Amino acid sequence: MSSLRHDAAMPHVTRAYVALGSNIGDRLALLQHGLEMIAVLAAAPDAGSLPADAALASGASSMLPSSNLRASGVYETSPVGGPGGQPAFLNAVVEVSTLLHAEELLARLMLIERQSGRVRGVLEGPRSLDLDLLLFGDQWIEKPRLHVPHPRLHQRRFVLEPLSELAPDLVHPRLHRTIGHLRAAAEREYPDQRVERLTVALRAGHRLSSR
Ligand code: AMP
Repeated sequence: MSSLRHDAAMPHVTRAYVALGSNIGDRLALLQHGLEMIAVLAAAPDAGSLPADAALASGASSMLPSSNLRASGVYETSPVGGPGGQPAFLNAVVEVSTLLHAEELLARLMLIERQSGRVRGVLEGPRSLDLDLLLFGDQWIEKPRLHVPHPRLHQRRFVLEPLSELAPDLVHPRLHRTIGHLRAAAEREYPDQRVERLTVALRAGHRLSSR
């Protein structure tokens, strides 16, 4: 196992990939809101000066940095795991460049989930907004509350399809296979996981929507 960190004294930008999923409520609006909040929170240097704090509390508008984020297309997918009969998901992946450490980024992702109305109920049950940290640079992290690369990334077509739009040649730090290779392997291995790319698109770098 390795957990690569560069010189701790130097600010270091890490490219991270985050999966977004929603299968309750206005799924597309929830993904869009999640993307906008990730752009703000991942860019903020420290939690005490979050430009998004007021927005989180009030839903007010604020301009977003657009350069730190890329979004995949949006996919409609069948639920994998969890209780039967739950509604289909919308999924997407965003690439974000951040100065944060992985734990700080995860804490902010969980804040966004809570702010979006997520309540932890049934394991792998329906959820308004689910955010998973898929990859964090080339780091391999095994901590009690943080596993990166995400341990089920390579078994989930709803993650691999959008992720391979953004980073097909990126090498999985533990499996030493490219994302494109893992996507093709999962397509063969899990033909029953439905993943359909929609024509709608998420907008990176727009005004924060009021919710
Ligand atoms: P869930 O939102 O139900 O997928 O699970 C969230 C829980 O998984 C939190 O308690 C996190 O601490 C933990 N976790 C571990 N690794 C990750 C990761 N790479 N991304 C998101 N949550 C993670």
